[in-house]
Amino acid sequence: MSNIRVRFAPSPTGPLHIGGVRTALYNFLFARKHKGTFILRIEDTDQQRYVPGAEQYIIDSLQWAGLVPDEGPGFGGNFGPYRQSERKEIYKQYAHQLVALGHAYFAFDTPEELDAAREAGGEGFKYNYESRGQLKNSLSLPEAEWKALLEKNENVVIRLKVPENKSIHITDEIRGDVSFSGSELDDKVILKTDGMPTYHLANIVDDHLMEITHVIRGEEWLPSTAHHVLMYEFFGWQAPSFSHLPLILKPTGQGKLSKRDGAKFGFPVFPINWDGSDGDEPYPGFREEGFLPDALLNFLAFLGWNPGNDEEILHKTQLIDLFSLDRIVKSGARFDYDKAKWYNQQYLMAMPNEDIAQLLAPLAMEMNIDANIDKLAHAASMMKERVYFLQDILRTGYYLFNEPHDIDYETFNKKFKPELKSHFLSIADLVAKAGNADRNHFESLVKGYAAEHGLKIGDLFPIFRLSLTGTMQGPDLFDTFAILGGATSSLRIQNLLN
Ligand code: GLU
Repeated sequence: MSNIRVRFAPSPTGPLHIGGVRTALYNFLFARKHKGTFILRIEDTDQQRYVPGAEQYIIDSLQWAGLVPDEGPGFGGNFGPYRQSERKEIYKQYAHQLVALGHAYFAFDTPEELDAAREAGGEGFKYNYESRGQLKNSLSLPEAEWKALLEKNENVVIRLKVPENKSIHITDEIRGDVSFSGSELDDKVILKTDGMPTYHLANIVDDHLMEITHVIRGEEWLPSTAHHVLMYEFFGWQAPSFSHLPLILKPTGQGKLSKRDGAKFGFPVFPINWDGSDGDEPYPGFREEGFLPDALLNFLAFLGWNPGNDEEILHKTQLIDLFSLDRIVKSGARFDYDKAKWYNQQYLMAMPNEDIAQLLAPLAMEMNIDANIDKLAHAASMMKERVYFLQDILRTGYYLFNEPHDIDYETFNKKFKPELKSHFLSIADLVAKAGNADRNHFESLVKGYAAEHGLKIGDLFPIFRLSLTGTMQGPDLFDTFAILGGATSSLRIQNLLN
C-alpha cells in the first residue's frame, strides 16, 4: 500500500446522481492505480437536507458498481468514524482553535438582523471585511458585551475571518492555477448555531485527519476551495492536491445534466432504482434498466477522461492501468445515452453465454419463463448481439420460450404460396422426427428437402421464420429450430399454416 489516500465524500441529501458515480469511479481508479486507499466518507452535517435512505443508497450503488471502499462506514478503517454526524465534537474543537488563533470569530446576528443587513447592503451584500465591523460579532462588540452573548448561547455561529487583501492560490491538477482575492470572499460560517460544522470546516478537518492526499471532486466545489485553502493555511496544515472534474452535460450539450433530464429524455440518471422515499418522485436506475456494471464504468470513465488514443473498450483493470489526472478534460462532457447502450452491448457480446445465463435465471423466474441454465445460455448465444440489455434476451427473444403471439401476418400473406402447403407439412413432419438435433442437422434437413423437390429457399425460409418467431427479425433460423426442438418447431409450423 502506498500513502496515497483519496475519498469519495457524498452528502446523503438524495439518491446519488450518475455524476457522483463518476466521481467515485475516478477516485477509485486513482487509488487503485497508485496502490492507495479509497475511502468513503458520508458528509451528513446538513440536518435539514438529510434524506433517510440516501446513505444506504450510496453504499448499495457503490457495491453494485464494484467500487467498494477500503475504508468507510461499515467497511472498517483506522480513521473513523466516517460519518460526519458522529464527529461533531472534533469540528467544534477546531473551530474554537481558529478563534483562538484570531482567524475566526463569534457572530450573533439573528436571521432578522441578517435580512435587514442584506436589504440595506443591496444585491452584493456579503458578510466580510467591509461589513463585519457594523454587524454583531466578537470583532465589532466590546468584549464584555459579546462574552455575555456567548454565555447566553443564542444564535451563536463561528465565522471565518477572511483577510481583505489576501491573495489565495489554488493549484488544480486539471485547471491549473486559479487565484482568488480575499476581498471577493465572504466570512463563511464554519460552525452553526446547532453546534454542527458547515461543509467547509468538516471537509477540511476530515481531509486532514484522514490523511487525504488527493481531493477529486465535482467542479461545483471549486469556488469553496478558496476558503478551504485559507483554512489549511490558518491551521498550518498541508493542503491535499485538488482536481475538479468537468460537468456532465445534457445530451443536447446545453447545461448540466439534471435528475429531471432522465424523464425528459427517457433514460436513467441514477445508478440503481430510487424508491422516492425523499418525497421526490421515484427514479429508474441503470441496474434495473439492464446495464452491466462494468459497461457502465467504462462508459462513465470516458465522460471527461480518455486514454489519449482511440481505444474505447477498456475493462476495469485496463482503466486502472491507464488512468491519470492529467488526461481529465476541462470542458463539460456530453451525456450520450446511445453510447452507454453501445457499451452495454459490447460487454454483453463479450460475456460468456454461461455467465449471461446465470444473470438471466432470476429474471426468467420473475417473468415466469420456464427454462434451465443450458437453454438460457443457448438463448444468450443467439440473442446477445441483437439486444442492448440483458433482459431483452428474454423480452425480445420471448418466442424462444413461449408461443409467438405477435405474428407478422402481413408478410405472411405476401410470402405464403398456398400450392406449397403440403411441402411445408412434410418438412414439419421431418422436423418433428429430428427431435433434439443440433442446428446443422436442421439446416441439412430443410435444405436437402428443398433441393430434392426443386423448391426455392426464398419461398420457404420466411414462412418458417414467421411460424417459429412471428417476426422476420429473429436470430439464426436453424438455431431457432434447435433451441425449440423438433416437436415444438413442427407444431408452430402447422399452427401457422392452419
Ligand atoms: N459533500 C460534497 C458533495 O456532496 C462533496 C465534497 C467534496 O468532495 O469535497 O458532493
